[in-house]
Amino acid sequence: MPELPEVETVKKALAPWLTGRKVRRAGRVDAPEGPKYRGLERAAGQRIEAVTRLGKFIVMPLSGGDELVVHLGMTGVLTGEEPRDHVRVLVELEGRSQSRLWFRDPRRFGRFVCLGPGEREHLPTLARIGPEPLSDAFAVGAFAAALGKTRVAVKAALLGQRVVAGVGNIYADEALFRARIHPETPSSALARGRVAKLHAAIREVLSEAVADGGTTLRDYRQVDGSRGEHAERLMVYGRDGAPCPVCGRALVRTVIGQRGTTFCAHCQRR
Ligand SMILES: [Zn+2]
Repeated sequence: MPELPEVETVKKALAPWLTGRKVRRAGRVDAPEGPKYRGLERAAGQRIEAVTRLGKFIVMPLSGGDELVVHLGMTGVLTGEEPRDHVRVLVELEGRSQSRLWFRDPRRFGRFVCLGPGEREHLPTLARIGPEPLSDAFAVGAFAAALGKTRVAVKAALLGQRVVAGVGNIYADEALFRARIHPETPSSALARGRVAKLHAAIREVLSEAVADGGTTLRDYRQVDGSRGEHAERLMVYGRDGAPCPVCGRALVRTVIGQRGTTFCAHCQRR
């Protein structure tokens, strides 16, 4: 599933193309009516003022006060080239060049909606999203305080999007490995020094992955169709049974909050 680096890569490609363009029409294509594609008709006639990212959401404020919000889900891809199938949303822009944005999403876990002012409650994760990890808003002190309030496993806390935005299964495993923290450690049991290590590790892994254009394992593609190149630099994610890059012992897999989790039982102690 696309996480912060993948969504950031998509955002960077969309921004020069879409910023300032006026929407001629937006709507569902091969998709049922429902909350995943709500309100799109309202975008017509409004100008896209910016292309921004909040956690794993792409947010495009519109000149009339609404906003287009996209979550890529598992398999969602935004592209300027007409896909062969599984098109869920089409946004047509005024002007001649590159005037169509397609949202292809075979498994339909993604969302593409137009929200009015105050309507973010329709997307609870967005309405209560935590600080951006690569911004100054992500401070060690506040991160420690947020983790201190919950007993859930630190891996699950990272996935929850409230203590920090944009981290999903891949980068949670990678950051916990770098910080040498066992993923099942209760969040509130982490000493301040370990929280500081985790904070630094999160920023490191995300920055490196952004520089690589994200991680393509299966479905994720950049807007031009190319793959993200970070997969070969992953140290633990998806490598259970392979040797730990630090100590050489076999990496192990467990399940935390219904998500597969890979770690080194030797390097990552509770
Ligand atoms: Zn190890």
